[in-house]
Amino acid sequence: SAKKEGRNHFCFFSGELEEGLLQRHALELKLRHAITNDELVVVYQPKFNLHTRAIVGAEALVRMVDESGKFISPVDFIPIAEESNLIGALGNQVLLKACTEAAKWLISGTPTCVSVNISASQFIGSKLESEIANVLNQSQLPPQYLELEITETSLMGDINETQAKLVILKKLGINISIDDFGTGYSSLSYLKTFDVDTMKVDMSFVKDMLNNKHDYEIVKTIISLGQSLTLDVVAEGVETEEQVIALTDLGCTKGQGYLYSRPLSSDDFLTFLKNSVQQESEH
Ligand code: C2E
Ligand code: MG
Ligand code: MG
Ligand code: MG
Repeated sequence: SAKKEGRNHFCFFSGELEEGLLQRHALELKLRHAITNDELVVVYQPKFNLHTRAIVGAEALVRMVDESGKFISPVDFIPIAEESNLIGALGNQVLLKACTEAAKWLISGTPTCVSVNISASQFIGSKLESEIANVLNQSQLPPQYLELEITETSLMGDINETQAKLVILKKLGINISIDDFGTGYSSLSYLKTFDVDTMKVDMSFVKDMLNNKHDYEIVKTIISLGQSLTLDVVAEGVETEEQVIALTDLGCTKGQGYLYSRPLSSDDFLTFLKNSVQQESEH
């Protein structure tokens, strides 16, 4: 009967919902535990000069390790961290680890800028500036070796607040990069007033740029916009030599992606760094 069906449907949805909630709850507990016990891991993916293949920086990417030693993706736990008020603590741990690592690179004679992802609520929160100052002080990292990657969507929230916040952050001497550019809703007029250094072309456009005309045109437009605003442009998700050729033809000079390197453990990254050509010292 209809009544019976309705009941079955109800049970079906409720069962699924329950399972989702349980999984989410389990992940939140794991995350809480990892933060409390300082068990989060940060890996580093090098960024390259597309012409010379010299390393021009590294992006810090957080990982959580599960019982079996496997990595859990930040795509799965960052949203939970944001919802459960853990993002502040998580963000500070990542910042401190990344800056401490970059200070090591500097001391080792291979100075390299580290880029740290900042989530929307971390950016909007009132404590980011003081936390950055704190971490720079603790790690003894000169500010020019730290860059914050802030998504386009976070920046386009409250424009006046963003503007004010960027001014304070820039005064600290750090760099600012707009992450996942092209996936949000940018108000182009604000881009010229925001004091940012870099724009990252979202990987979703780079992925198909050689077989999808629209993606190619979007990449081309973003690169040209970046150039007009005298910003550095970094392409994400570079996986083939053909993409490198197309990107450099369009005037993009920097990129990161599996073609060059996957994200590396801090030890592997330092080794990688010591074995590679240094950008700064060469020019
Ligand atoms: P994102 O900042 O855009 O980072 C780039 C993502 O692309 C990384 O995934 C990286 O491993 C992946 N990637 C790099 N090269 C390639 C490639 O050639 N092909 C493909 N298919 N993927 C590539 P990951 O590490 O899983 O991070 C995913 C997202 O999670 C990041 O996107 C960022 O939004 C967020 N995230 C990572 N670490 C942190 C963190 O410490 N704090 C915050 N708030 N967010 C983070
Ligand atoms: Mg990023
Ligand atoms: Mg990105
Ligand atoms: Mg992205």
